[in-house]
Amino acid sequence: MMVFARKHQTQPGEAMLIKTVLNKIERFKSFIYGSAQFLPVNGEDSLVIDIKPRRNSKPECPECGRRGKTYDTQAARLFEYVPIWAFKVFFRYAPRRVSCPVCGIKVEAMPWGYGKEQMTISYQVYLARWARRLSWKETADIFKTSWDSVFRAVQFVVDYGLANRNLEGVTEIGVDEIAVFKGHKYLTLVYQLNAGARRLLWCGPERRIKTLLRFFREFGKERSAKLKYVCSDMWVPYLKVIAKRAPNALSILDRFHIMRKFNEAIDEVRRSEAKEFKAAKQENVLEKGRWLLLKRPENLSEKQTSRLGDLLKLNLSSIKAYLLREDFQRFWEYQRSDFADKFLENWATRTLQTDLEPMKKVAKMLRSHKPMILNWFKAKGRLSSGAVEGLNLKAKLTIRKAYGFKSIKCLQVALFHTLGELPEPNSIHRFC
Ligand SMILES: [Zn+2]
Repeated sequence: MMVFARKHQTQPGEAMLIKTVLNKIERFKSFIYGSAQFLPVNGEDSLVIDIKPRRNSKPECPECGRRGKTYDTQAARLFEYVPIWAFKVFFRYAPRRVSCPVCGIKVEAMPWGYGKEQMTISYQVYLARWARRLSWKETADIFKTSWDSVFRAVQFVVDYGLANRNLEGVTEIGVDEIAVFKGHKYLTLVYQLNAGARRLLWCGPERRIKTLLRFFREFGKERSAKLKYVCSDMWVPYLKVIAKRAPNALSILDRFHIMRKFNEAIDEVRRSEAKEFKAAKQENVLEKGRWLLLKRPENLSEKQTSRLGDLLKLNLSSIKAYLLREDFQRFWEYQRSDFADKFLENWATRTLQTDLEPMKKVAKMLRSHKPMILNWFKAKGRLSSGAVEGLNLKAKLTIRKAYGFKSIKCLQVALFHTLGELPEPNSIHRFC
């Protein structure tokens, strides 16, 4: 894979400069930088910097950290480092095998890397940082590396972050689910919603009782007991798990998930009405009307607003459903839960008198979950109405950007990477 033909040996002055820079960036105890030269690696001119053990230093056992005698020295290996001026950079080092009194004969620990990975830790952190800004494919293209290398880099950083993150002080969480891939696969996501500390805490495949049970098991009993608020969808099996596993938490049905039910109902009404138009061979005024009805009016463009105005003049079921939703928005503005309660009852009564079956279903659901919906007002001022929605949007964007993700595992890594607020491996120099 590599050619060790000498191409251009740096002059003493150049080598000095590179060493000076490297020592400023990253120093490894017990090792020193040697000469630097340009060599072709995989057919490409690369800067290769030798690393040597400090004189009289003993190799360190990778398993127990003890230092032992050198058993033998292996052939030199290359470790890819952060590129400079579009040149690939490699460390070249001949690993020693340590004779550890406890673990036996092992390849020594090297502080710039781990295991059989060819990329150095610094380079992996560097790639992972770019992979947060660009897609993984773009990152791979720019740094002339493979998609797989970028994935391994991100996975390393995520694994490190998960092992080293702090889970103290998590008192507010939200449970959300997202459809992934085509078909009906789901990921269940659990977010921390504490003000100033919003992040993805957990994600697992599927949307089943055992999925959420797994979260609580991994999160731990003690931490679960400290939860004060848990926001979720009104899916009964999940609500039961939450009641059981977070016994001290106020269970809240959050605004985002509730309004989503409205949108699903409006869309159902619109679809069946559009079908009727088609059957009666009438002009389909609802064609392309989907987003007009699902978006909040303040989010429409000028042109959309005037089209919506035209639609509102028609006596359509879809419009009636739309207006019922817009009317319900007032619910969230109440300060007192008893007033909100009265409003909800009123709204439900009116809705149940219509012939809009999907909306009537929403009304019944709101009534049957009323206490948990009203808990929203008890938590007011603590929970931001946009928190779950904001995280949900970011998660969806990550999934959309994740072109080329083949498995749930990749998606999980990507989601933790962008939404987990994870700590990174320490390094003294921030490359990007
Ligand atoms: Zn050992």
